[in-house]
Amino acid sequence: MWMYTAIVRPILTYGSLVWCQALEKSTNLKTLTKVQRTACISTTGVMKSTPNAGFEAILNLTPLDLFVQELAANSALRLSQTNIWSTSQSGHTTILSNNVDNNVRTDYMTPYLDFNKSFNVSFPNRQDWENSVPFSNESTIAILTDGSKMNTGVGAGFYSENLNLASSFRLPDYSSVFQAEILAVKNAATQISMMPISPADITFFIDSQAAIKAISATLIKSKLVSCCREELRVLGMQHNVRLCWVPGHRTPQCEMKRNIVEHIFQKTNERWNLLETCCHTRKLWPNYDEKKSNKILLLSKPSLRSLIGVLTGHNLLGYHKKKIGLSTDDLCRGCGNEDEQEDTTHFLCHCPALCRTRKAFLGNFFFNELEELSELSGHSLLNFVKSTKWLDNP
Ligand SMILES: [Zn+2]
Repeated sequence: MWMYTAIVRPILTYGSLVWCQALEKSTNLKTLTKVQRTACISTTGVMKSTPNAGFEAILNLTPLDLFVQELAANSALRLSQTNIWSTSQSGHTTILSNNVDNNVRTDYMTPYLDFNKSFNVSFPNRQDWENSVPFSNESTIAILTDGSKMNTGVGAGFYSENLNLASSFRLPDYSSVFQAEILAVKNAATQISMMPISPADITFFIDSQAAIKAISATLIKSKLVSCCREELRVLGMQHNVRLCWVPGHRTPQCEMKRNIVEHIFQKTNERWNLLETCCHTRKLWPNYDEKKSNKILLLSKPSLRSLIGVLTGHNLLGYHKKKIGLSTDDLCRGCGNEDEQEDTTHFLCHCPALCRTRKAFLGNFFFNELEELSELSGHSLLNFVKSTKWLDNP
């Protein structure tokens, strides 16, 4: 499956920003979906009658048109922040207004290289910190900076005992912790440059490795980092500046990117829940679930085939065999009752011949509805299927 998601799908979706709207035509979408279908069938070995939507949900593959929308919206977002994106009322340029809240601004800019660094950077390890505070002696001016995000908003601040300096400020709610950390350093640098102090060693203590790495990088990709770098350059003309990491770091987040991903995930799930077909699979697999899908993708191909077979109802039980012309009758082989059809619901929930096996692997002798099995792990279902041997090739 990774070969498809890492190699084939990127080739298939190349340049999707320009052609994403072509997928609104069902014939185009059909052609592309065929490729995704072939990949699913060849990696899992499921029966050819299995519907797309079913195994897409089980394997956590976003439907191709939504996947392309996500890719295109992300590309448009990047371009719009560099001012080379024009919007109109129609065509592919509407992609951003359909997928994200346009009022949110980002910090992205056209990347550029900056080789002039007017400060030193140190990453002492935790052990160094246990022994003593690195880069601190009587003549050093120490500044602590920090940024944080809580339910009430985003804030940043800095503090220096040597300079008798303290300040805190609030950022717009959509800002990330990473931006708060950078802004704290920038504002501290601005304020200190304006103070009448003689040349000294100034050390900024920052608890975000990501922030330090971004500020000291040669390739600058953010407006805020660029401003911060400029302030540090001004400060570095008079003083000896150092950025030093304090243990306890957080990772940067790009809020808008996350919004797009969340939005597409929501749309994918909504489409899955509102689908009129695949009733059987939707009862057993009610939502897209990456963790659950990743677990079952580790199974061997024959196991995956059995499991997807039982989850989609496209398997070698009497009902489906009769439907595809492999058998003439669909009566249950277990209970010998002429009225009982051997379909997946009977197999998983009702057949009395399997009640002991059901109790052993699924926890109950009988179930009323397929929905009751949706919380069970793929492995329990698979063990049940394997021990009955009902889905094996005759
Ligand atoms: Zn039966």
